[in-house]
Amino acid sequence: MRQPVASRLPQRAAFGAAMALAFAAPVGAVRAQTAPPVAIAAHSEVQGRQTRLSFTLQSCVKTEAYLLGGPARAVIDLPEVNFQIDPAAGAPAPAAATGIHPKGAAAPTAGLIASFRFGRLGPGKSRIVADLTGPAEIVSVACAPVPGAAELTLVLAPSTESAFKAAARAGARRQALADAPPPALPAPSPSDKPVVVIDPGHGGVDSGALGRNHAVEKSIVLDFAKALGARLSADGRYRVVFTRDDDRFISLGERTRLARRLNAALFVSVHADSLRRADDVSGATIYTVSDRASDAEAARIAEHENMADSSAGEETQQDSGDVNDILLDLTRRETRAFSGVFARSLGEYFKVAARLNKNPRRSAGFVVLKSPDVPSVLLELGYLSNARDVADLTSPDWRAKAAAQVAKAIDHFFAEQRPPAAAAALKATQSAGN
Ligand SMILES: [Zn+2]
Repeated sequence: MRQPVASRLPQRAAFGAAMALAFAAPVGAVRAQTAPPVAIAAHSEVQGRQTRLSFTLQSCVKTEAYLLGGPARAVIDLPEVNFQIDPAAGAPAPAAATGIHPKGAAAPTAGLIASFRFGRLGPGKSRIVADLTGPAEIVSVACAPVPGAAELTLVLAPSTESAFKAAARAGARRQALADAPPPALPAPSPSDKPVVVIDPGHGGVDSGALGRNHAVEKSIVLDFAKALGARLSADGRYRVVFTRDDDRFISLGERTRLARRLNAALFVSVHADSLRRADDVSGATIYTVSDRASDAEAARIAEHENMADSSAGEETQQDSGDVNDILLDLTRRETRAFSGVFARSLGEYFKVAARLNKNPRRSAGFVVLKSPDVPSVLLELGYLSNARDVADLTSPDWRAKAAAQVAKAIDHFFAEQRPPAAAAALKATQSAGN
């Protein structure tokens, strides 16, 4: 039985135009060198005991599939593919009930696949990640020509817990071997300008929250980050560095490593949230890191944001545990105090241009805010499940005004602060040890 959960671009006209262009290009070397193949549809279906996940592509690509555990996932690694498919196409079923799910596309409903995602990992690489409902084995993965296109199909069948665990361990080893070494980090600032790292959340295969009117967190926060970066760079007072400036996946660890490597004076992570069952909740929230969450909602958000690596089909890194070191502990406390000072003033400035959540200052264990020596805050711009917030967050006018207020808060922070003494001492001992 075929349960079509096909997905299409929201605008059929745009889809048609894109495909007309894509298919008008001569097939062969010219196109292969100029643009990655386009993927236009995805669906999962149950056939007897098997669950199949298929993508319709412009042409065949080389694929590699493997399993990962904790949580159970199937991962397909591909060369770069241009996914012209609504990111909500593979979202879990409950989204359908809220109307967030795109019309004409049903979520995966049965079988071994609970939900799936797809997108770019980085230059030349894409990935498909399926969340599994139970232990599974990969029966096959293949890409075959079909009339006018190609179809990439992953076939899964139920397996035993122990067989799955063994396969997932092999998958993790395979991913570790295949992973390119992380890109070289930029050099610390040659000037004495303070480094401000702007961190647009999510990216690539990890879309982040999905909201009304096809709002996608990874795109909204990238647009906001760019507006903020442009505003901050304008008067030349700072060295502004982005953790990503396009649609790619960056792990949480890479984001904090970049900030620490650059001796960043401030790290601002930009996100947007979505609530499935409360579309009246709205407004911005400013988070800092804490060992215990300020409230249940903060704990939920941190847990969700901390899942970014797992959503992108990465083998999750174990927390190496905090080193018990007096100087490090002192630094961490001092840094947290600075983060708190900035968070408070950010709220004051931000509310001039934007609405704040009724409880706008919260804290929880966000991995991306844990650099012990870089004052760090996470700004949730608003809720993509709320109509007014989506209207604001997608408005260039709102974005310009709101980003200008964040820039003013940053100016205020640097005008008021002395460099943290313990952080400077820590950096000195670290560089002496190198
Ligand atoms: Zn987020």
